[in-house]
Amino acid sequence: MTTRSTELLRVAHTRPGVTRAAAARLLGVGTGAATELVARLSQAALLSEAPAAPSGARGRPTTVLMPHPEGPLVLAAEITHEAWRIDVVELGGHPLASLAAPHAGATWPELTAAVTAAVGKFFRTYGIRLRAMGISVPGTVSPSLRLDASNLGWHDVDLTELWPGAPLFVAGNDASLAAAAESARGAATDASVALHVRIEGGLGGAVVDRSHLLVGATGASGEFGHMPFGDPAVLCPCGARGCWGTAVDGTALARFLGQPPPRDPVTYARRVIASDGPDERAAVGVIAAALGRGLAGLVNGLDADLVTLGSIAADLLAAAPAELHASYRAGLMAIRRETPPPLVAAALGPDGPIAGAAENAWSSLLPQLS
Ligand SMILES: [Zn+2]
Repeated sequence: MTTRSTELLRVAHTRPGVTRAAAARLLGVGTGAATELVARLSQAALLSEAPAAPSGARGRPTTVLMPHPEGPLVLAAEITHEAWRIDVVELGGHPLASLAAPHAGATWPELTAAVTAAVGKFFRTYGIRLRAMGISVPGTVSPSLRLDASNLGWHDVDLTELWPGAPLFVAGNDASLAAAAESARGAATDASVALHVRIEGGLGGAVVDRSHLLVGATGASGEFGHMPFGDPAVLCPCGARGCWGTAVDGTALARFLGQPPPRDPVTYARRVIASDGPDERAAVGVIAAALGRGLAGLVNGLDADLVTLGSIAADLLAAAPAELHASYRAGLMAIRRETPPPLVAAALGPDGPIAGAAENAWSSLLPQLS
């Protein structure tokens, strides 16, 4: 398959519903060449065409590029601190089917058994159309696809056990994948340097520089929660003192409310943020301010032009926007304060990580479709 075929598939994937005429313009090829490319790709069961709605423009009617009904599919999987989910995703990013279940307290072998059973079920339906798996996990992933998720008690586990013999397997950290998805299909498509920050069990994020996701030398970049923007008196589970994450999560809320550390900081934080009590409102204001201060530090350092907030960070933006914005502005350098890079909720919401896992699988698979 030529580079041009791969490029055409990429256009059909990133712009679902694109017309053949528009795809030809994006690729810089003539209509004849585009027609030939599309014919070849539909013969290879990679693309199909449907009549486009009349545009009113003169000339021959064009067609819309669609995924082929027998074309390749990827499995996009997400493991959170409490549940797993697997989607079957076609070219263009649309999910065809989904399976999910809670796993709270499960061991790694128990989780593996549940996920491999789901993969087997999809395989019986879709067979060899399933060409790749992309997975999002709440921890760090090594280059050899081993996961460390200290919050869940899973250390150095082999992610490829989730689909033994997978033709193509890619994995990434939830926050990094959510960031990539926001830049590909979400709120950050027009940003030059987008910063994504997400609070769940911990605070993580990623930087996408002109659609290039910064992954780090060992794949563990984006651990912003362990930058010392917090209280040096507080010891973080990572072993360092003063980590920012300990100032903005459920454990921080519990500390301000004089309660013991919550067993499930995510659920606890959601409950406190939703509460109307005056003590709870005050505690939420304090951690929203701690979030804004750290974001200012990152924006000063990275020169980001947009910040997207996911999960509990988005909940804090909705619940205490005044506190968050005030500390953000106060922490910005004067040169950035006149037009502060906007803080916006992630557009893909809770679907960010699994959408990123699907993108990760597709972008690895597309060049191999020959
Ligand atoms: Zn830490």
